Amino acid sequence: MENERMKELRKRLVDSLSKYYNLNEKVVQAMNKVPRHLFVPEALQKSAYEDTPLPIGEGQTISAPHMVAIMCNLLDLKEGHKVLEIGAGSGYHAAVIAEIIGNKGEVIAVERYESLAERARRNLEKAGYTNVKVVVGDGSLGYKEYAPYDRINVTCSAPGIPPPLIEQLKKGGKMIIPIGRHYQELYLVVKKNGVEKSPKGGVMFVPLVGKYGFDQ
Ligand code: SAH
Repeated sequence: MENERMKELRKRLVDSLSKYYNLNEKVVQAMNKVPRHLFVPEALQKSAYEDTPLPIGEGQTISAPHMVAIMCNLLDLKEGHKVLEIGAGSGYHAAVIAEIIGNKGEVIAVERYESLAERARRNLEKAGYTNVKVVVGDGSLGYKEYAPYDRINVTCSAPGIPPPLIEQLKKGGKMIIPIGRHYQELYLVVKKNGVEKSPKGGVMFVPLVGKYGFDQ
């Protein structure tokens, strides 16, 4: 019963997002499938299908559903892609990506806080995602072990594009990254011979903290 209700609330949310944002069908299907309520603290589950960020501990937040949808749309994800995510948080965004790229694809999600990484792993397991690897580290350095990546999804705001992320992106690869401290802009970055960077609108994210991030 509970599950049916969650499904219904999820569908209502995703229907309205897809009308408003002109999302591609893969993104809509994935967001209809991934149970966001399993990725938020139990006490907040009733708010899981409102279009709002929610606290997940350590002063961090799970992004609002519309932001996850917009970023997945811009990333232009394809089946079988290898994707690096910086800022695993709850694991929700990684799960939506995993759903789109399928079992031949893989998401490597880096998180700075061990406690959040541990919970993200549990959330992903509960939701049934086996193609996401959550690792602990400073994501401003990327994650060399599995590089290069087809796509990079940065879910915290950086002072600029961290050079290791450009290095670890395949030629022809795409990255989505919020940049700025107080005023933040979302950028789509495409690596060709050089790097093309186009602004996609104002956003609000927690800061990227690390070597190529902010101090705190
Ligand atoms: N994608 C997440 C949203 C998390 S918010 C979700 O779906 O829930 C951004 C996350 O980035 C926070 O958990 C924060 O701890 C993390 N973060 C900040 N700086 C980081 C860094 N240098 N490396 C890895 N993670 C970082």
